Amino acid sequence: SSDIRLNLRLIPYSEDLWLVVARDVTKMMRLEQVRRDFVANVSHELRTPLTVVHGYLDMLDPQEHPEWAPMLSEMQLQSQRMTQLVEDLLTLSRLEAQEGIDSETVAMGSMLSTLRREAEALSQGRHVVTVEDAAGVDLRGSTKELHSAFSNLVSNAVRYTPAGGTIAIRLARDDDGLVLSVRDSGFGIPAAHLPRLTERFYRVSTSRSRESGGTGLGLAIVKHVLNLHHARLEIASEVGRGSLFSCHFGAERIEARDPTTSGAMP
Ligand code: ADP
Repeated sequence: SSDIRLNLRLIPYSEDLWLVVARDVTKMMRLEQVRRDFVANVSHELRTPLTVVHGYLDMLDPQEHPEWAPMLSEMQLQSQRMTQLVEDLLTLSRLEAQEGIDSETVAMGSMLSTLRREAEALSQGRHVVTVEDAAGVDLRGSTKELHSAFSNLVSNAVRYTPAGGTIAIRLARDDDGLVLSVRDSGFGIPAAHLPRLTERFYRVSTSRSRESGGTGLGLAIVKHVLNLHHARLEIASEVGRGSLFSCHFGAERIEARDPTTSGAMP
């Protein structure tokens, strides 16, 4: 199209004069769009072949060739991983293309119990605690996207915490806003890595992260979802002691809780 995109900067010049600097970012944005479309198209095209491979793998009976069993289960694991990767890439492309976000009531009481159930299902010997210090308020936004962001944090907390550790999910008031935090008593993250953690495919330790079964896209998804809600992610961590991921929502995202929405999410 013939749209021109400009980035404007105002620079104070004298008491009542400002300089306007305009940078033409049309080309840059077009390239960015090409990159996004490319990733989205490739991911989409990979979906069908993966479904086919996955489907046939499921049909092979390891009992017919017991010597194939370890190979079959490895192939299944890897094809599941690839499927997850493709799904996460598609989620990211969808989030990147989005300019606004749904604005429905997000029932935070049920969100908390859903996250608790999910954490318990994954926990395998880790303790799960939920704390609700914000009764009476809900968020405005997209339940689906927020749930995917929060559950990424929860599954990370479980994956990077050894058995015997604790995962605590907490909902609390914060100044005039709301904060949902996920704390774990796990491996922790060296400070030098914190600023880059939400970049796609950024991982602290490749081997541990691979073993843990993630795609390296989880925190990038979290960040996008929070950005769309004008919320911010804070990360605090100490090696050997654990990590704290907190999502801070401003007052404009909060609404008084409707007592009829306190049931469980579907
Ligand atoms: P992954 O799929 O690799 O977990 P994420 O984007 O979710 O990708 O996380 C990026 C990296 O941040 C992870 O590979 C891991 O090194 C680190 N990380 C994320 N959450 C935690 C956590 N709770 N404790 C320790 N390290 C974490």
